[in-house]
Amino acid sequence: MFIEVVGSSGSKNIDNRLVCMKLGDRVLIDAGSAALIPDDELDLVDVVLLTHAHLDHILDLGFILDSMVSRRTRPLVVTGSEACLNIVKEHYMNGLLWPDFTKIRVEGSPILEYRILADEIWTTLPGNAECMAVPVNHPAGARGFLFRSEGNLVVYSGDTGPTDKLWRTALEQGDPVAVVIEVSFPDSKRDIAMASDHLCPSLAADELLKLGCEDIPVYVFHMKPWFAEEIKAELNFSGKQVILLKPGSRIEFI
Ligand SMILES: [Zn+2]
Ligand SMILES: [Zn+2]
Repeated sequence: MFIEVVGSSGSKNIDNRLVCMKLGDRVLIDAGSAALIPDDELDLVDVVLLTHAHLDHILDLGFILDSMVSRRTRPLVVTGSEACLNIVKEHYMNGLLWPDFTKIRVEGSPILEYRILADEIWTTLPGNAECMAVPVNHPAGARGFLFRSEGNLVVYSGDTGPTDKLWRTALEQGDPVAVVIEVSFPDSKRDIAMASDHLCPSLAADELLKLGCEDIPVYVFHMKPWFAEEIKAELNFSGKQVILLKPGSRIEFI
């Protein structure tokens, strides 16, 4: 199993793509920049796993569904917390801002199917992976995820401010081989990070201490592009290997 980055930024400009990652060939983690995935790869995707309903994570969902209407007959399953899915249904694909694709049928099958992802149980995903959703400290129905494949465990924070449950649950489930953690703001904007339920490098360092796991690599994403250089200079997690995720980055966890 692998995670391959389509976009890893916490905002969007000419050089930066919104959060979207492939988990193997058949699952997307968030869909911020999903419309940039080539059609032949998109056609393999069965499930979009949403961390939460903020725009930087769902923006291209509407556009990939728009393109899928003309190319496929099986539904795209969009899964996430109940709160997250309700926001997407009521405020995005509601027949006003964008079509309600659950009502658009191709050869009798809806093109979109919502499926609530239960918390804190393992759910099997297409392509030999499992995920466990854990509530985190962020609005819009936010969840972090544990991913497991062939016994290897990866922790994915999603968007979050300081939290405990995700790290505790990860340690209960095994020995993580990697952690993917958001760092949105530099330490000079720690107050904004706290107010918006995000992390800065010093807050992320505290979170990683909760996880322990001294030797595992730390993959960083969700930087606000205008603070990227400042954040990079501050990323030092007690000697841990730190990798900044960017489009094309790949995390192998088998
Ligand atoms: Zn975000
Ligand atoms: Zn968010």
